[in-house]
Amino acid sequence: MQNAIRTSPGLMHDVSIMTASTSVQIRGACPHDCPDTCSLVTTVEGGVATKVQGNPAHPQTGGVLCNKVSRYTERTYHPERLLTPLKRIGPKSAGQFEAVSWDEALSDIAARLKTIAARNPEAIAPYSYAGTMGFVQGEAMAGRFFNRLGASLLDRTICSSAGGEGMSQTLGGKVGMRVEFFAESKLIIIWGSNSIGSNLHFWRYAQQAKRDGAKLICIDPRKSETAEKCHEHIALLPGTDAALALAVMHELVKNDWLDHDYIARHTIGWQALKERALLWSPERAAAVCGVPVEQIKSLANDYGQSFINNQPAAIRLNYGMQRVRGGGNATRAVACLPALIGAWRHRAGGVLLSSSGQFPVDKATLQRPDLRKGSLPRTLNMITIGDDLARQASSEFGPKIEALIVYNSNPVAVAPESGKVVQGFARDDLFTVVLEHFQTDTADYADYILPATTQLEHWDIHGSYGHTDVLLNRPPIAPLGQAKTNTQIFRELAVHMGFDEPCFQDDDETLCRAAFGNGVDFDELLTKGFATLKLPDAPFANGNFPTPSGKCEFFSPRLASQGMDGLPDHIANYEATGTSNDYPLAMISPPARNFLNSTFVNVKSLRDIEGEPLLEMHADDAAKRGIITGAVVNVFNQRGSYKVKAEVSNRARPGVVNGMGIWWRKLGLDGTNVNQLTSQHLTDMGRGPVFYDCLVQVHLA
Ligand code: SF4
Repeated sequence: MQNAIRTSPGLMHDVSIMTASTSVQIRGACPHDCPDTCSLVTTVEGGVATKVQGNPAHPQTGGVLCNKVSRYTERTYHPERLLTPLKRIGPKSAGQFEAVSWDEALSDIAARLKTIAARNPEAIAPYSYAGTMGFVQGEAMAGRFFNRLGASLLDRTICSSAGGEGMSQTLGGKVGMRVEFFAESKLIIIWGSNSIGSNLHFWRYAQQAKRDGAKLICIDPRKSETAEKCHEHIALLPGTDAALALAVMHELVKNDWLDHDYIARHTIGWQALKERALLWSPERAAAVCGVPVEQIKSLANDYGQSFINNQPAAIRLNYGMQRVRGGGNATRAVACLPALIGAWRHRAGGVLLSSSGQFPVDKATLQRPDLRKGSLPRTLNMITIGDDLARQASSEFGPKIEALIVYNSNPVAVAPESGKVVQGFARDDLFTVVLEHFQTDTADYADYILPATTQLEHWDIHGSYGHTDVLLNRPPIAPLGQAKTNTQIFRELAVHMGFDEPCFQDDDETLCRAAFGNGVDFDELLTKGFATLKLPDAPFANGNFPTPSGKCEFFSPRLASQGMDGLPDHIANYEATGTSNDYPLAMISPPARNFLNSTFVNVKSLRDIEGEPLLEMHADDAAKRGIITGAVVNVFNQRGSYKVKAEVSNRARPGVVNGMGIWWRKLGLDGTNVNQLTSQHLTDMGRGPVFYDCLVQVHLA
């Protein structure tokens, strides 16, 4: 049985129907910034999406979705969903808008952009990230538009760039173990991740391994739901992961728990790394990490015994640990460990931070950098948007930023040092356009808000950073109200700008097909909804790392050639614990379980579960300040302050508070959120953010 649904204007597509009678089920992909990239099945009755479920036929999803995306229909049909273009009629931030037609909005936006571009197109900047992870509604038509315009480029660094660079400098890219083989591991180290909250489908594999006798160890400053369920929890201080990894190496060397054959054949820089590791006794690392010496020795012993007993040991690294000054080095230090014990010989051994480097996505075809004319535009780092919006024109910086087009992101809530971000967005001489589903904190500062479609209303194609399947997203329903796809908005804006290149006419299915070219069987995607990349089970059993040397690079000649340390080392936080009397507590800001970055905060059923913005605090730190659970406290540092409810909890270790994120500012207790306190410093490599490198003080409000 077949059904036809409307997608991009002018296109009709046949869609397989999986059930009879009046309801149909359409396969799609979760678009959110989560490693699991679930395959979705949406039930549609009478043109209305009534249910979103996990696809039982997709092994990585296993028919299960997280609590957040299970509520996707509540989000899609939310009464506050933006359904018409809106034009600002009040002061910036006041949130006063009036509905206008698409033609009026796009004509005015194009006229404003043309005026600015005539002076210098680099005064216009895109601001986007992973509001959708789809390659089409992400940077495909948007990339073409900004390339053709000659706008500033954006360094999209806000989540993963330090870790990504660390992996590239060590293993050659964002590559690693296949996630499904964690189920066969005998030792799993979950490093810097609350898997239950943010990598649920990996956790299923870890649970399987646990049932089959594996030992699970969690390394995380916070005693998360995941840490509670592991056999051991190492609650180190934020930003000390490299010290811990080097101490593990120290013990591997001292006890000769080393796969000398693997090291000799498939690594470079071993002698130098060995000398570095021998500087990091467990005693030294314990003092830096704030954990017992015995815990470090026990971790090293577990890892070393895996080698002695020829059992697979696997590390699930996640991005939390790289959001500090030394995040790139820390990632490198951990990524060196599997080669030392030859863990890569097993398909259930090695390390996985991200699998995204394994997808043969053709970004050049999607984004068309060849549309740029003249020299390469300047690049703005999305982390420093607060400072950059305050900069005047200069030969060093280039033109003042005069226009921002924001899509798939909510920078006023998520960018660091948000006091400065707010000041920048409030500039009367800044022209801001926001493509959105809802009137977010950022949309409050827009000159125009353009209503965008959700994942249920558009085509897209997805890779993953947690598994190795490509997923196709078909739209189960037509766009709501006057909402348009991101691609269609940029197509129509291109027409209004007078861009007449044929590539602006490509429809969304064409873009989906172009994303992987022949790298994936599109018919299989149409039939099944997903297609698994053909990859070896144990990719580095015989070396063949995608580094320039083909080996695991303990020593990175590329880093050394840039004047950096070629070996991984511990680099202390910009704001290390114990270095400030005024701000004695380290603060991390992990995601609240029912939110995904700033998405879902306005979904009432999920916000009701979270309650109010929360600061977890250890009993010792709370007692010193007379703070009890439920008290409203001020969390502050030299950058600002925010009000939050305290929860005295053993989820926080002494000396570290957990400011659960990321609340919309306007839904918080005092119109701010945790990013009021975070800084715009950058990581050692990858130009990433240091959200978890932040000292604060806490007082009763
Ligand atoms: S957010 Fe993650 S776990 Fe939840 S449905 Fe999406 S991919 Fe799956």
